[in-house]
Amino acid sequence: MQRALSRKNLWDGLPAPVRALAGGILGRVPPALTLGARFRHALHFVRQADRWPAERWRAYTLDRVRRIVALAAEKSPYYGDTFCQIGFAPDDLRTLEDLAELPTTTKETVRDNLDVMLTCDPRSSCVDATSTGGTGGEPLHFYIGADRSAIEYAYLVAGWERAGFRLGDRLCVLRGHPVAPSRHGLRHEYDPLLRRHFYSAFHMSDEDISGYLSHIAAVGPCFLHVYPSSAHTLARYLARTGLPAPSNVRGILAESEIVYPDQRRLAEDMFQCRYFSSYGHTEKVISGAECEHSSDYHIWPTYGYFELLDDEGRPVTTPGERGEIVGTGFINKVVPFIRYRTGDCATYVGDRCPHCGREQPIIRDIRGHRIQEFLVAGDGSLIPWTALNMHDDTFGAVRQFQFRQDRPGEATLRLVPVNGLADRDCNRIVESLNRKLSGQVLLRTEIVDAISLSHRGKAIYVDQRIPTNHATGTQLLAARSS
Ligand SMILES: [Zn+2]
Repeated sequence: MQRALSRKNLWDGLPAPVRALAGGILGRVPPALTLGARFRHALHFVRQADRWPAERWRAYTLDRVRRIVALAAEKSPYYGDTFCQIGFAPDDLRTLEDLAELPTTTKETVRDNLDVMLTCDPRSSCVDATSTGGTGGEPLHFYIGADRSAIEYAYLVAGWERAGFRLGDRLCVLRGHPVAPSRHGLRHEYDPLLRRHFYSAFHMSDEDISGYLSHIAAVGPCFLHVYPSSAHTLARYLARTGLPAPSNVRGILAESEIVYPDQRRLAEDMFQCRYFSSYGHTEKVISGAECEHSSDYHIWPTYGYFELLDDEGRPVTTPGERGEIVGTGFINKVVPFIRYRTGDCATYVGDRCPHCGREQPIIRDIRGHRIQEFLVAGDGSLIPWTALNMHDDTFGAVRQFQFRQDRPGEATLRLVPVNGLADRDCNRIVESLNRKLSGQVLLRTEIVDAISLSHRGKAIYVDQRIPTNHATGTQLLAARSS
């Protein structure tokens, strides 16, 4: 896969000998400097715009929407033809509401028309190939500008600041990052550039967790950066063992999965600090973060244009009603996502937060296709399948996939090919996943014609057959029925 090296991932890209030599020196450089001028400008802008009154951001957002629509009309044959067919000209956009004249787009739109949706040559050095990692059961492949990370990270950091995080604070990360064991057997790596301690979310036995928590307790004031499921596994361990949580954890920063209220409460009770969640996706159309004073999400209006639509495609404007999150993103100029249906649903709360006074769209109870499920490792520990999301071309030739598990430590990966799969393609997929699983779950592949959906029409990513009287059963059942 083609991927430009972003500043945020600079440390990962350095060869090991350079890391060993440079760590001490580079660790003294302030992260704001490491992340570059583009990041610093973006963060400054996001902080300012966060307090704009509705009138101001609406003017800014309208300008951004006009630009992306004009770019799409001029450079993307797909949008050019679509606009032509419905008699729409970009100059017709006089208000944000006028955008509703355009049809919505979906994953299928992008999958079926990617080549003609492009606004430039995807082989250009400033373009990355990326994918959604299969969170809809069917991974979506598309292209995006290689410079997106600085802006994306600025929004993330500006959100975290509401939870007390300051740039330069240490992060203890339990997410999809593969971490090899050190000489002492602890799966820990340190990135001195961004002061991040990585631990392995794929290795969560009691012994592993005990090692992580002891290590975290010794790093000084820090924030946990987690999947909701990895935070939950830590919290359950503390609840079960009665051991004290590290007292130096200042907050828990969670994203990439559904946040279940019970899991949030348990983590907050155990760690005695704020649990703070952000919302976003690989398509980069909409981004949001919780309020300082509540767990409602405030949508960043300068990141993308947000719409919440009911089943008939009408805007949801009544507090308490639910709708689908639809976004027009400003970041991806390579493949414009215009009125893109994310498949995620949320409850509309209002356009002004009574707690902080921000005049932004406010939503809660986000639910979507990111169903939280687990694989059970040979030692009984749970591996969140979301940690296996491959943000590369691993599943490039696969339309749908599903893990089926009958016994701890073994699973069958069922694959629906796009156009047939050779043995070497299957081997490549297994090798890629094995790098993350490191032997904890032995994978077999099985080619199938189709994978059936749940009774609610949702994809089931892990067809988990391990009996619920297994040590992990309660959690599996809770995860599946939520
Ligand atoms: Zn607020």
